[in-house]
Amino acid sequence: MRPSCASSARPGTGRRDRGSARQMLVVVSAPSGAGKTSLCEWAVAAVPNLVHSVSHTTRAPRPHEMDGRDYHFVDAATFRSMVTRGEFAEWAEVHGHLYGTARAVLDGYFAAEQDVILDIDTQGAAILREAHPAGVFVFVVPPSWDVLDRRLRQRHSESEEEIQRRLARAREELRHYAEYQYVIVNDDFARAAEELKAVILAERRRSSRVDLGFLGA
Ligand code: 5GP
Repeated sequence: MRPSCASSARPGTGRRDRGSARQMLVVVSAPSGAGKTSLCEWAVAAVPNLVHSVSHTTRAPRPHEMDGRDYHFVDAATFRSMVTRGEFAEWAEVHGHLYGTARAVLDGYFAAEQDVILDIDTQGAAILREAHPAGVFVFVVPPSWDVLDRRLRQRHSESEEEIQRRLARAREELRHYAEYQYVIVNDDFARAAEELKAVILAERRRSSRVDLGFLGA
């Protein structure tokens, strides 16, 4: 059973962040099937003023996925020309498809003074770690290899070849866990979700992000 999406107030103070953006970037990576997309969606519903970044991808939409909501689905030529024009804050090839976070998408969230949660792979996270050192980096892991295998098969959305490719890549991705500030084990969705929410709320209270405006300059 998923926990309820109780809201919690933001600090009553202004906030400042290191780097160019005042807003907080929460980067969540995990091997495919670890449940990070559901966790990110839950966090967006549970934490006020947090939006889920919508990536661009050349992958075909899965049933129930909507263009503009789950991804911006584009063809390879469009994606490549965006790369050439430097329009991505980060991009990577994952499972044979191209995925990227458009700068314009991030800028839109920042202009609206919203914190943003990104569900991206370890290559993209490494790029953003350089560009946004004040970002919050969270790695979600499955409780065991068997559980990951089972979850990937239960989705019924990938072929056996694709599942094998994702399992091989999961092994590689898991080796990167120590590059992240937080590791959440997704054995129980409700607990994992509460942990992610706790991380985000605690990070908002970092003194480096809080500006006690009433003290003056
Ligand atoms: P899926 O096809 O299952 O939605 O995503 C496959 C992988 O691509 C996941 O690990 C997901 O986190 C990653 N991914 C999704 N969007 C982006 C993105 O914008 N940039 C990068 N680097 N990876 C992404």
